[in-house]
Amino acid sequence: MSGSTARLDLDGNTIKPITICMIGAGGFIGSHMCEKLMSETPHTVFAVDVHNDKIKHLLEPDSLPWAGRIHFHRINIKNDSRLEGLIKSSDLTLNLAAICTPADYNTRPLDTIYSNFIDGLPVVKYCSDNKKRLIHFSTCEIYGKTIGSYLPNNSPLRQDPAYYILKEDTSPCIFGSVEKQRWSYACAKQLMERLIYAEGAENGLQFTIVRPFNWIGPRMDFIPGIDGPSDGVPRVLACFSNNLLRREPLKLVDGGESQRTFVYIKDAIEAVLLMIENPGRANGHIFNVGNPNNEVTVRQLAEMMTQVYSKVSGEDSIKTPTIDVSSKEFYGEGYDDSDKRIPDMTIINKQLGWNPKTPIWEMLESTLTYQYKTYAEAIKQTIAKPVAS
Ligand code: NAD
Ligand code: UDP
Repeated sequence: MSGSTARLDLDGNTIKPITICMIGAGGFIGSHMCEKLMSETPHTVFAVDVHNDKIKHLLEPDSLPWAGRIHFHRINIKNDSRLEGLIKSSDLTLNLAAICTPADYNTRPLDTIYSNFIDGLPVVKYCSDNKKRLIHFSTCEIYGKTIGSYLPNNSPLRQDPAYYILKEDTSPCIFGSVEKQRWSYACAKQLMERLIYAEGAENGLQFTIVRPFNWIGPRMDFIPGIDGPSDGVPRVLACFSNNLLRREPLKLVDGGESQRTFVYIKDAIEAVLLMIENPGRANGHIFNVGNPNNEVTVRQLAEMMTQVYSKVSGEDSIKTPTIDVSSKEFYGEGYDDSDKRIPDMTIINKQLGWNPKTPIWEMLESTLTYQYKTYAEAIKQTIAKPVAS
C-alpha cells in the first residue's frame, strides 16, 4: 500500500485493517480482489482455493511490498476441517467458490447444485456460529428470465422497463422447468440467498449478497487446450477470445439474440471494496453489481470483439467471422437462456454511491490486448505442432 494517509470510509471514519478469509480467491474475481486489497489497502487475506495460478504473482517473491499480508491455503471447502479455524480468525469471510460456467449447469447438474448450495452451507454456519460477517457471491442469473419474455412478441409492454429491469427487492425469479437443467445453478444460488437471509433474520448473521452481472476482464476462465481442457467450454468472453486467437468463426448460440450487460472487472471490484469497508451500509443488503449502460446482444458482442481483436492483433478478420449453432449442439440437452439482464442500480447507488465507469469498447480493448499478449504465441505453437500419429 502506498503512502501513510488514513483511509476513510464513506462516513468519514478511519478504516481499520482487517483480516479477510477469501474463499475462491484463486479464481477470476478473487484474483482481482486480492490484487486490489494488496496494492490499495492494509488488509490481510487468507486466500483459500484449490488452485493458485491466477494469484501466484501476489504470493512470491518474499520481497513483494505486501509480503506477510496474503497467505494461500490450498483447501477444498467440501471436506477440510481447517476452514472453521480460518473463518474464526478472520473479521470477514468473502465466499466466491462455485462452479459457475453455463456449460456445466446442464451437463454436471449434481456438481453444480452441490457446489453452489451444499458446499457453501458450512461457510454460512461457521460465520453465523462465530458471529462473523459474510459477503456471499450469488448471481444475476437468480432473476432467470424477464417477465417481458413471456409477453407476445408484438406486445408494446415489452418496451416498458417494468417488464425487464431487474430489481433486487421486487423482481421475481423466473426459471424454466426442472427438465431444463440450466437452472440448477440459479436455483441453488437462490436457495443459498434465502438461507443466508434467514440466518440474518433469525440468528443475526451480518451478511451482504452480491449479484454480479457479467463481469469481464483479464484472467477470466481459460483458453481451451492452453490453460484449460481442450474440450472445456468457458464463458462467452473466453469462448470468443479462443475463436479469435485460433482464427475460427465465433459461434452464436441460437442466433446470438440474448442480451447481456457487461461490466469491467476493475469497476466491479471497486463496489466490493466499498462493501468490505462500509459494513454499516452494506450489511443486510443484496446488491446488483453491473453496468446497465453496456447492453448488447451476443451477436453484437461477437461483432465488437472481432473488430477490436483485429485492432490489437493487427490481423484482418476471417471471411466468415460468425456462425450460428443450436444450443442443443453447443451445450447439449437441458440448456435454456436468460433473455435480457439489465440491473437496477438504485440500491447500490443509495447505499454505496457506486457507479460503473468503463464503456464496453474500452473494456474489450484492454481485455483482448491481455488475451493476445498472454495466449497468441502459445496458440501459434499448438497449431504448428504436428498431430501425434
Ligand atoms: P471462477 O470460477 O473464476 O472462481 C471460482 C473459484 O472458486 C475458482 O478458483 C475455484 O477453484 C474455486 N472453488 C470452487 N470450488 C471450490 C471448493 N470446493 N473449494 C475451494 N475452492 C473452490 O469464477 P468467478 O467468475 O471468479 O466467480 C466468483 C463468484 O461470483 C462465483 O460464486 C460465481 O457464481 C459468481 N458470479 C460471477 C459472475 C461473473 O461475471 N464473473 C457472474 C455471476 C456470478
Ligand atoms: N454464447 C454464445 N457463444 C459462445 C458462448 C456463449 O453465443 O461461444 C452465449 C450463451 O448462449 C449466452 C451468452 O453467450 O446467451 C452468455 O454466455 P456466458 O457463458 O458468458 O454466461 P451467461 O451470461 O449465460 O451466464
